Amino acid sequence: MAAPGITRSSPIHKAPKESMSFTQTTVPFKITRANQHDVKVVWQDGHESVYPARELRSNCPCAACVDEVTGERRHTAVVPDNVKPLGIQLVGNYAITIQWSDGHQTGIYAFDRLRKMCPCCLKAEGSQQ
Ligand SMILES: [Zn+2]
Ligand SMILES: [Zn+2]
Repeated sequence: MAAPGITRSSPIHKAPKESMSFTQTTVPFKITRANQHDVKVVWQDGHESVYPARELRSNCPCAACVDEVTGERRHTAVVPDNVKPLGIQLVGNYAITIQWSDGHQTGIYAFDRLRKMCPCCLKAEGSQQ
């Protein structure tokens, strides 16, 4: 089966400027599923991030979930509580796309964005302040 669902026809508008040089912290060593619902990324610097499926799905950056003009999340982007990833595919060498159990699969999660979303790092940041 050829890889479904990935088209390069629509340019990615929000490519971060610093994305030209990846550091070890933004390159995954391994992308896997921590369990039925959670996605686990092991980064090349050894850090491990576990993303709850629903949180990832709720942060889907695609045009169907986020209004490109206002940046607001659309009301149509209702995420089922029990959503889970059915498949994870690499997009080039900078991102992954996730096929969700609710049928959604247009979101592209750039590695540097994922790293910034790391739940344990966000938590640590929050508790320092
Ligand atoms: Zn989406
Ligand atoms: Zn972390």
